[in-house]
Amino acid sequence: MKQDIKNYTLKKFEGFLKENNLPSYCGSQIFSWLYQKRVEEFDQMSNLAKKTRQILAKNFFLSKIELKKREVSKDGTEKLLFALADNNFVEAALIPEGRRLTFCVSSQVGCKFGCKFCFSGKGGFKRNLSCAEIINQYLAVVDLAGASKITNIVFMGVGEPLDNFINTIKAIRLLINPKGFGFSKRRISISTCGLTREIERLAKLDLGIKLSVSLHAADDITRSKIMPINKRYPLRVLFNSLNRFQQNQKQEITFEYVLIAGLNTARGHALKLARLLRGIKCKVNLIPYNECGADLRPPTEKEVFSFSEELKKQGVFFTVRKPKGRDIKAACGQLSRGTLPVSFR
Ligand code: SAH
Repeated sequence: MKQDIKNYTLKKFEGFLKENNLPSYCGSQIFSWLYQKRVEEFDQMSNLAKKTRQILAKNFFLSKIELKKREVSKDGTEKLLFALADNNFVEAALIPEGRRLTFCVSSQVGCKFGCKFCFSGKGGFKRNLSCAEIINQYLAVVDLAGASKITNIVFMGVGEPLDNFINTIKAIRLLINPKGFGFSKRRISISTCGLTREIERLAKLDLGIKLSVSLHAADDITRSKIMPINKRYPLRVLFNSLNRFQQNQKQEITFEYVLIAGLNTARGHALKLARLLRGIKCKVNLIPYNECGADLRPPTEKEVFSFSEELKKQGVFFTVRKPKGRDIKAACGQLSRGTLPVSFR
């Protein structure tokens, strides 16, 4: 059966070349046709021998993702709906902010983890995205915005990237390989709800990308209420892994903290957060809750202000994430599989 060539990292592809008695330098040539020159047929790879092109066409195909819908928010954020080959759908977002243009990519069709405040998991989990489907989302936004315009890639769309570990890592390898896209590793972030084993696996790979952890509460009772994963990996277990991560990977960890009115915004919560993070090189990203159909409320400005003032007093470094794309339901936690009730969308 023919394989999707975009599921191959350069290393794996060189293995294929070897098996077929083709020189390994063809790997760079072919990747350059695929990811820089962007050809749509193997026959267009004009510096390859005809026989090589034939071998490629016999063994591989070139996939594309279909952009079905493009909505633009009044703040410039775009929500993109992609159709996959098997009639599944997935959304992603393109977020401009000052000089930055961040692509928020999806890693799964739906999500298994059922965080209370997040819409992406509401329709359940369908399947993992392949490496090619992740890369094709990126290629589609490059078509919209231009490769040089996209400054950051965040695995913060639909799904849990570390639950689709192999495909996510393959896609990252293609993105950062100078012979692939040559995207800066420091401008790629993975966000996780806290899958401890995969966090440690990631540390060992030493990719140099950034890690964000969806924390949202600094005590087990509150966190378990809103994030079922906390029952499997409570804070003590999570922080053991994060400590080990930081022994391998020296860069700081970002902790995302969605502020939900009356739930995790009191002074006591801020104090617990400061205590929990002591000794870890990190920053906190405060995210005012975006409406997502759950029985939860966004914080008032005053709640955000007093929570952040308390963190400041405690010496915790933090930023407040501006809500982007709320009017088109493209903000954090609002992306979906795209097939959900019309009432919400
Ligand atoms: N599964 C991964 C990747 C998703 S990232 C993870 O959990 O980290 C999406 C980010 O948006 C996460 O930090 C998530 O907690 C946050 N988020 C989800 N729903 C939200 C909402 N309704 N309002 C604000 N942020 C939300």
